[in-house]
Amino acid sequence: MAIKYVAEPFRIKMVESIKMLTREERIEKIKEAKYNLFNLKGEDVYIDLLTDSGTNAMSDKQWSGMMVGDEAYAGGRSYFKLVEAGQDIFGYKYIQPVHQGRAAEKVLFPLLLGKGKYAISNMFFDTTRAHVELSGARAIDCVVEEAKDPTIRAPFKGNMDVEKLEKLINELGPENVGLVVMTITNNSAGGQPVSVQNMRDVSAVCKKYGIPLDIDAARYAENAFFVKQREEEFKDASIKEIVKEMFSYADYFTMSAKKDTIVNMGGIIGIKEDDELYQKIKGNTISFEGFTSYGGLSGRDLEALAVGLYEGIDEDFLRYRIGQMEYLAAKLDDAGIAYQSPVGGHGVFVDAKAMFPHIPYNEFPGQALAVELYIEAGIRTCDIGSYMLGNDPDTGEQLKADFEFTRLAIPRRVYTQAHFDIMADALIAIKERASQVKGYRITWEPPVLRHFQAHLEPIE
Ligand SMILES: *Cc1c(COP(=O)(O)O)cnc(C)c1O
Repeated sequence: MAIKYVAEPFRIKMVESIKMLTREERIEKIKEAKYNLFNLKGEDVYIDLLTDSGTNAMSDKQWSGMMVGDEAYAGGRSYFKLVEAGQDIFGYKYIQPVHQGRAAEKVLFPLLLGKGKYAISNMFFDTTRAHVELSGARAIDCVVEEAKDPTIRAPFKGNMDVEKLEKLINELGPENVGLVVMTITNNSAGGQPVSVQNMRDVSAVCKKYGIPLDIDAARYAENAFFVKQREEEFKDASIKEIVKEMFSYADYFTMSAKKDTIVNMGGIIGIKEDDELYQKIKGNTISFEGFTSYGGLSGRDLEALAVGLYEGIDEDFLRYRIGQMEYLAAKLDDAGIAYQSPVGGHGVFVDAKAMFPHIPYNEFPGQALAVELYIEAGIRTCDIGSYMLGNDPDTGEQLKADFEFTRLAIPRRVYTQAHFDIMADALIAIKERASQVKGYRITWEPPVLRHFQAHLEPIE
C-alpha cells in the first residue's frame, strides 16, 4: 500500500554537505571501527540515524534567537522567556532549565527516591533507570503486554499496564514506591504512544496510594499527535490542548529537550505546584548545573529552547514528522520487512530477528543489520537488542532481550524523501541476501554500557 510522503512544511536556507564513500571504503572503515558503529567518524557516514537526540535542525527563528540570547548570570531575559513558554504550554507553576534530560533526573530523583524505595514506569529509558539506581532505589518496568510483540498493531503500545501497576504497588507496599514515571512516547518500546485515558487511570492509582507521578517528557509532542490521530475524544483538539490535558494528570516532568523541542542541547524540569519541592530543586540545580536562571545552559540556548517548545507542537510539523516514519514503514510493509508496528514517533525499529532467523540472540542480529546498513548505503543505526542489553551482572552471562531491533532514529527536519528511499532500498537489498549475513562475537568489552565501546568480529 503506497503512502504519500508528507511534503516538508519548510524550505531549506542552509545546507551541510555529506559524502558517500565507496562500498569498498565502507567495508574497510567498519572493519577498522571493530564493527562498532559508535567508533565510526561522523564524516564517514552518509545518513546518520544513530539517534534523534540533539541531531535536529534549528529554524531561522531559533538561530535568530541565538543572537538575542541574554547571557546575564542571574535573571536573564531569555530565562523568563523560557519560563513563560513552559508555563503556557504545560500549565505548570515552576519551570527549571537544566543542561539535558539526565541532568533533570539527577536533580529531581534523589529528592524522591533512595535506598529501599522503588520507582515504577511503563518503561524506563536507560539514563532514567540509571538515575533511579544511583539514588539507591530500584526501577521496575510495567508496560502493557502487546508492546512486547512487534507484529501486534495496537494504537497505544506505550501504555502502562494499570492492573499490574496497582498489584505491584500493593506487593511492594505503597510507602516504598517513591515515584511513578510515564515515558511519553515510550522510547524503549519503539517510540510507542501513551493514551490520555491511560494517563488518567495511572494518575488515579497514584492518587489513591499517595505516590507522585512524573512524566518523562522527551517526546511529548509526538505523543500528542498520536493521541489526536488515535484517541476519539481528542480528534478535534489542538496539540497544545492535548499536551495540557496530558500534563494536568502528573505532578512533575523531566524532559530531554534534545528531542521534540528541536534543539541540540537542553533539558527542563517542570513542577506543577509543590513550592517546597521547588525550593529543593533550586538547591540541587545550583550545586549540579549552575544558577537557577541558566541551569547549565547559555542564554542563547535558553532562547532557542523557548522558541523550540512552540515549533515542536506545530501540527503541520508533526504531520510531516510522523509522516516520514509512516512513509518508510509502508515501504517495508510492501517488501515484507518486519518492524515494531504500528511505527512509532521518532524512528523505525526493524525486527532483525525476523530478517535473520539463522542468527541467534547471542550473535547479535540487530548489530549485524546495523553493520550491513552501513556497508550497503553508508547508513548509521544502532542495535536495540541483546548486544545493547549486555551481560547478567551476577553470572556474567549474555542476557536475552525481548526484542532484536535495529533502530533507524530520524533527526528532525534533516533528511528528505530521497534519503528515505535510500533507507528503504538498502533494507530491501539486505533482505535479499539475508541468509548470507553472519552473526558477530565480541572480542573486547568494558564492564558497563558496553555497546558504546565494544569490539566485534564476524563469525566465519
Ligand atoms: C533522551 C532521553 C532521556 C535522557 O536525556 P538526555 O538529554 O540524553 O540526557 C531520558 N528519557 C528519555 C525517554 C529519553 O529519550
